[in-house]
Amino acid sequence: MSTGQWMTPSEGAAWFFDAGAESLDFAYTGALADERLHSPEDLAGWLAEHLAHPAPEVGERDLADALILREALARLHLAAADHTPFAPDDIDTLNLFAATPDIPPALAGGRRQAGAGRIRVAQALSTLAREAVASLAVRDEGRIRRCAADDCRLVFRDESRTNSRRWCSMQRCGNRAKVRAHRERERAARS
Ligand SMILES: [Zn+2]
Repeated sequence: MSTGQWMTPSEGAAWFFDAGAESLDFAYTGALADERLHSPEDLAGWLAEHLAHPAPEVGERDLADALILREALARLHLAAADHTPFAPDDIDTLNLFAATPDIPPALAGGRRQAGAGRIRVAQALSTLAREAVASLAVRDEGRIRRCAADDCRLVFRDESRTNSRRWCSMQRCGNRAKVRAHRERERAARS
């Protein structure tokens, strides 16, 4: 799985946001950002791209299920970042999705082409849910945090070895903070 996706704000340039976890990226397809899953085809495309499998067949019912999982993922990650309790209903929703079979791991090099087969939506959603279960279960490690910029506060999962990520994106908030600090230093030097 490869994390991250382009964000296209109504104002300003598109920028790449790597939330650090597929399940959290999924929450940023709408629940925590502007809606980008308008149709079953949108969901099929997103899952294919992010789970590196041929697009599953997606119906309206699947889309509705996915959005239920997405809402729960969003609220659970916000709670983890803000150190508030998880809602039991959200935990039940997450566990329900995680209980179905996920996309099985496959070793390449056999006679059958591993991982080439179509997946079902339920498998894809289970994979996202299981990732979130593993990550949210260790919320006390403090890796699920908000961007340090006061006017941003996007939630990410810090995957760095040193657990020292501060920004949603170095190119966006990180850079802005650097510019601000530079200006302040110059001002201090002048006065
Ligand atoms: Zn930010």
